[in-house]
This record gives sequence, C-alpha cells and structure tokens, in this order.
Amino acid sequence: MTTYEQIFENNRKWVEEKKASDTDFFERMAIGQNPDFLYIGCSDSRVTVEELTGLQPGEVFVHRNIGNIIGNTDLNAISVINYGIEYLNVKHIVVCGHYFCGGVKAAMQAEDMGILNPWLRHIRDVYRFHKKELNALMDEDLRYKRLVELNVEEQCINVLKMAVVQRAYLDRGYPIVHGWVFDVQNGNLIDLHFDFKRNLEDIREIYDLGLSEQS
Ligand SMILES: [Zn+2]
Repeated sequence: MTTYEQIFENNRKWVEEKKASDTDFFERMAIGQNPDFLYIGCSDSRVTVEELTGLQPGEVFVHRNIGNIIGNTDLNAISVINYGIEYLNVKHIVVCGHYFCGGVKAAMQAEDMGILNPWLRHIRDVYRFHKKELNALMDEDLRYKRLVELNVEEQCINVLKMAVVQRAYLDRGYPIVHGWVFDVQNGNLIDLHFDFKRNLEDIREIYDLGLSEQS
C-alpha cells in the first residue's frame, strides 16, 4: 500500500516522466480542457476511469458518488451534467456502475444505514421498479449483479429527463448517453448497449419538456 509520504514522491516522479516524454504537456494542460466524455461513476476506489479506459488527462470530465446515482434534485450531479454539456460540449455521457458495488449491496440489506438511507433509497427504488425480474433470480449474486445493471440503466434514464440533455440532443444530435458496468473481478468493461434513442422517445411521453427538434 502507498503511504501518505510516498504520494508526493510519486507526484514528483510523474511530473519528471511527463516532461521527459512530452515537453509541453503542462503548458498545454494550463490552456484548458476540451473533453469529449463525461463519466459518472461510483466512488469505489477500485474503479479508476482513466486507468481502465486509457483516457488521458484532459479527455474525461468526471463525477463520482456512492452507487453512481443521478438524483433528480442532486445539484452536484445536475451541475456537472449542465457544465459538461453547456461549456465543455461533451459528445458522450457515460454512467458506469460496477459489480461488487458496496452501495448496491447495502441497498439490498434489511438494515438502517442512518444518513445513507435517503441516498440508498434511489437504488431501492430501482429494485422496486424491477421487483418481478429481480425476485425471479434465485441466486443472490445474480440478483445483485442484475441490480447493478438496472441501476445504471435507471440513472441513464435520469440523465435523459434533463432539459439540458434533451435540448442539446435535439439541437445538435449529441450527447449520446451510454451505460457501462465494470467487472472488478476480471477488469472487463461491459457496454450495456443502453438504447439511447428508444429510451429518450419513451420517457418523453411523460417527461416531455415541450422541446422540439430544430429543422
Ligand atoms: Zn460502487
């Protein structure tokens, strides 16, 4: 395990290595960011977006919280998505969950988690929406994994409900919303192939904000 003191030593080496392989790296970074991707993932320390995707500094705008939740009134997540679309012009928004997620596991337990209760309730809601499918899975691990996937899809849908997302997509054809799951056990990244267009059409029946496609 890395100690606290080693962190600054590691940083010094990283700066040296970066400068050695790319002289203008930090000058370029100081100019600004122009990432194509907005990544919304879990805070879990094992799920490190840059490392598992090969994305470099400046390539991905990141928001992380327990259980990769996009709550309808969560100003933090909503601000990140707004900024990503309006100022950074991101082309893709990814919601990434992961198997062996402590947040999802906790939401499956009959336990008072104190301050975490309202947060985990978002995941319990997902369970309720899909109770029939989940209860039909006899194997608890399979049920847990499926809830991870369904939670990702539900959070993708929460992104689609936002006016800023609908307006940007109808005006310019992006951002596209994707759902991923990272498998901690083998390192594989799984694309859930979230059907962005169908889901957008579907939810607009109820979450229609009166926006229409620009001609
Ligand atoms: Zn997690």
